[in-house]
Amino acid sequence: MSRLKFQLEATASGSRARAGRFTTLHNEVLTPTFMPVGTHAAVRAQRREDVLASGAAVLLANTYHLMLRPGVEIFEKFGGIHGFMNWPRSVLTDSGGFQIFSLPGSRSVTEECAEFKSYVDQTLVRLSPESSIAAQRAIGSDIMMVLDQCVASTVERNVAERAMELTHRWALRSLAARGDSPQALFGIVQGASYADLRAVSARAITDMPFDGYAIGGLAVGEGSGVREDCTGIVTELLPPDRPRYLMGVGTTRDLLEAVHRGVDMFDCILPTALAKQGVAFTSLGRRDLRRAAYRDKDGPIDPACNCATCKTHSMAYLFHLNKVQEPQGWQLLGLHNVHFYMQLMRTMREHILADDWLPFYRSQRDLLDARDSYGAPVRHVTKAQRQKLKLKLGRYEVIIRDGTGHIREMTSGEVMHSVNDPAEEARSLYIEQSRLVEHLTEPAAAPLVVWDVGLGAASNAMAAIQAVESTRGRRRLTLVSFENDLDSLKLALRHPAWFKHLRHAAPRGLLAENRWSNAAAGVDWLLLRGDFNATKFTAPLPDVIFFDPFSFKTDGALWTLAAFRELADLLSVTAAELFTYTYSTSVRAALLAAGFYVARGRGTGPKAETTIVLTPRAAVDADGRELLHGRELLGEEWLAKWQRSDARAPLGTDANDASWQQVVRAHPQFQKRFVYP
Ligand SMILES: [Zn+2]
Repeated sequence: MSRLKFQLEATASGSRARAGRFTTLHNEVLTPTFMPVGTHAAVRAQRREDVLASGAAVLLANTYHLMLRPGVEIFEKFGGIHGFMNWPRSVLTDSGGFQIFSLPGSRSVTEECAEFKSYVDQTLVRLSPESSIAAQRAIGSDIMMVLDQCVASTVERNVAERAMELTHRWALRSLAARGDSPQALFGIVQGASYADLRAVSARAITDMPFDGYAIGGLAVGEGSGVREDCTGIVTELLPPDRPRYLMGVGTTRDLLEAVHRGVDMFDCILPTALAKQGVAFTSLGRRDLRRAAYRDKDGPIDPACNCATCKTHSMAYLFHLNKVQEPQGWQLLGLHNVHFYMQLMRTMREHILADDWLPFYRSQRDLLDARDSYGAPVRHVTKAQRQKLKLKLGRYEVIIRDGTGHIREMTSGEVMHSVNDPAEEARSLYIEQSRLVEHLTEPAAAPLVVWDVGLGAASNAMAAIQAVESTRGRRRLTLVSFENDLDSLKLALRHPAWFKHLRHAAPRGLLAENRWSNAAAGVDWLLLRGDFNATKFTAPLPDVIFFDPFSFKTDGALWTLAAFRELADLLSVTAAELFTYTYSTSVRAALLAAGFYVARGRGTGPKAETTIVLTPRAAVDADGRELLHGRELLGEEWLAKWQRSDARAPLGTDANDASWQQVVRAHPQFQKRFVYP
């Protein structure tokens, strides 16, 4: 007979959603239920009183972490985890299987046990089905889990099958090790994302007399559709008179879908982990408190919530705490999120008991997943409304990521500065790498000339102007921006909340007059409209070039070998440095073939490198010495890689004419013969 005495109270019409209850050594648990995660015997950033007030009936703790720290002897001394953390309700302990799989470091799995290095002190730890149960008995949880071999849900079939079979053998050993302990024990169904293996595993595990059945190895790489299918296949095969637990899942929407498929118990770190980032789950969808829209918003994050955070604090205050990285911000949002999860489970249970689950389920599916941040969920904004919001102009549209606006070119889909905050990228790649501020303090008679190729939403140009205005430079700056389509800047100017760098008189002045000056700071900004390939001949020769147009996919003409040759020719009489975001092999080859020297630029965001380009006069002085300022020219290693590359030909080259290849191989930077031109 089951140690939990699970009672099924109701199953919803038209669904497998069910309500039930069971009793542990400490309390009665109503299902469906969510178990907040207390990995280290504490829910992260939450006081035990607040977790209790949320209504949490079961706390999840991790055997793997607790056996390493504080160690099972501490639990033995304090009367188990309940005495240690003074927790009066139930505790479920994970077996350690998932952590062995997911934490970094070497590990090996044999028939006997799993071996891995402790992340605390690097000693070798063995975890067998028997020692995992022994640790869980010492910790004193109400519900123990068998040790399983967890593999990524996307592994090959033979790997998934072997792990599943080992999990079955370990399940039997775990049952034997539990002996006459009054603690409940759950078996775990594995099988990755293979439907037939899931069915085999469900049958094998339910042949063993466990007190409940878990679905493991999901939420580790598969999509939500696969997860929902696997969940549905397994719950159909599980006995109705035992609780079912979907391990490690998920978002509020995932919970809704899994309850619909007959799952009773859940755990997930998301409510507290996302709270740390500033994300709240609410009855209106997800809200991202990092977004500037919340800066001055009064009222609670969720008007339908009665948690302590929502009763006490405004969105503006929570936005502020997140902004200044005050730990209380994390704590207050985490409190709300845990409360919201628990409240959602209670609401689902009520609808199942009242047998109006289906309409509730349908009404919540989209709502829980909505990602807007303020007011109505974004998905409810119609096309006409978007037009009204003026998010599009010409071939451009505004998209918002983490509270920052980006410009997207709609025909190619390309997003300017797609992976980084544009202001940050402007500072790092263009202002800092070009040593702009240093140049402005040089005592020179002529102004420093900077070309800004691809004005876009003016993030690089405004970063340069701000650098000048905050520097007491001796030298004037002439900034020349090149742009053939000004709609992107006009569009960004409509939305100063998302393009903060434009809150300045300069951009509007430039659009109106094609030039803007600040005499006191010593800056002149000129706009050259039209194609860079033509207008470059009309500009004063540059010292520095920010080369930041759209990529060759959108704006191919700027990236051809012919275009770079023409540029090299124009700049041959001057010492100029060019900075660009790409580090593509074919673009670098084109630059070398055009006669430039090419060096590695710093990485940015996920990009490992960018590119710095020097005219011969910028790279070599009159005595034949390199002028690299600590920069690293591409060397032999790059040349070898280039020769092996399938993408080595510059844009616009003729396959039959390989003379440019000879120019690259014979380039002085690979010959180590530096000659002043
Ligand atoms: Zn709340």
